[in-house]
Amino acid sequence: MTTKIVLHESDLPRQWYNLNADLPVPMPPPLTPDGKPITPEMLRPIFPNALIEQEVSTKRWIDIPEEVIQILAKWRPTPLHRAYSLEKYLKTPARIYYKNESLSPAGSHKPNTAVAQAWYNKREGVKKLTTETGAGQWGSALAFACAQVGLECQVFMVRISYDQKPYRKMMMQTWGAECIPSPSDRTQAGRDVLAKDPNTPGSLGIAISEAVEMAVTDPTHSTKYALGSVLNHVMLHQTVIGLETKKQLALAGEKKVDVVIGCAGGGSNFAGLAFPFVADKINGAQIDIIPVEPASCPTLTKGPYLYDLGDFSGMTPLLPMYTLGHTFVPAPIHAGGLRYHGMAPLVSQAARLGLIRPVAIQQLECFRAALTFARTEGIIVAPETSHAVASAIREAEKAREEGKEKVIVFNLSGHGLVDLKGYDMFMKGELSDFELPMAEIEKNLEAIKNFPKPEPLGTK
Ligand SMILES: *Cc1c(COP(=O)(O)O)cnc(C)c1O
Repeated sequence: MTTKIVLHESDLPRQWYNLNADLPVPMPPPLTPDGKPITPEMLRPIFPNALIEQEVSTKRWIDIPEEVIQILAKWRPTPLHRAYSLEKYLKTPARIYYKNESLSPAGSHKPNTAVAQAWYNKREGVKKLTTETGAGQWGSALAFACAQVGLECQVFMVRISYDQKPYRKMMMQTWGAECIPSPSDRTQAGRDVLAKDPNTPGSLGIAISEAVEMAVTDPTHSTKYALGSVLNHVMLHQTVIGLETKKQLALAGEKKVDVVIGCAGGGSNFAGLAFPFVADKINGAQIDIIPVEPASCPTLTKGPYLYDLGDFSGMTPLLPMYTLGHTFVPAPIHAGGLRYHGMAPLVSQAARLGLIRPVAIQQLECFRAALTFARTEGIIVAPETSHAVASAIREAEKAREEGKEKVIVFNLSGHGLVDLKGYDMFMKGELSDFELPMAEIEKNLEAIKNFPKPEPLGTK
């Protein structure tokens, strides 16, 4: 009985997998607000050339730089665990595996792309990266990555999280980053908001505006901006997860995978595990590939496929994606990383083509699943990750009812050791479920009704 399948460092993937090469129908292009395609020139003030190239690339395999591999090797390859204790508890004939991305220094999958992004910026002469962070997971991952490659890092953290969740801020500072509560007086965007409402709790949208403004107004042109999810190059960098998982399943003697699961906020950890399996599915394999989102933020399951802004304030291009409308403010559930109004264009296109099967689950079922997981497998997962755990449990129970020996794999995107407040509230009975009513979605979509519309499938 092998409980965890561990690869050697030399098994670390040497190339990332780009789903954009294999999509049966290509994605519609990102657009400017007046409907013109975005050109690479427009992105140059914000991102380094190498990442812009990856953003638009249709090459199937893209080499991972040797120095990036060396940093990833500090914690990769991550183990693939067989969830024997959970299987026994559920009395399921299914074999459940989970890929443990919680073992990175920042405790989640996010450093996989943070390291690559920081390294390319450094190589192109950038001195400093700015970014925004909500609960702090992305900010801490980027702070770690910047320390690794020798870049300054400035993180705009949503004010209310800065005050209420001090531990991620301390992690960022420990790695040498500057963590600024947003809105701040450092930027015009921040000063404008503060002038109107000095006691505002802040929002991710405002923090994005501040981080982007800092990058584009640097008189020395040596500051750029980094984004932790949604964009094509972020999905690409995360595919090390799925590529390792395939090798590990083969080592475990599995010839076929039936179900692949990841929680989905912007879509990156899901894409990282799932895209190499989506490639198999495009080539004829029968796999049920499930992105799991919260019922309170049901982008893929209830949102329409439209062009929408990636942020609240209109700093990003129009992206073709499933969306609840960029003005949507989700209920304050504890899975902060899943409260995003849109979904990565690559994940959205895979959903639109029927290559993946999105599911939405309520918060209470997720926390119940997280407690079951902690009490069987031992790991206290992030509230985001609990959505993947809940879905894996559902699928394992279904396998029991059907009497089928299925192989289920899910991504353990991060641990919850800095997010115990949600667990505390759940155990005290202070959390509740919330299903987003269609009427509210329609109200938010009013704001984008005049944006250009993506071409429907099958019109060419
Ligand atoms: C940020 C985060 C997520 C959600 O982001 P994706 O881009 O959808 O992966 C999920 N899990 C953890 C642990 C996170 O930190």
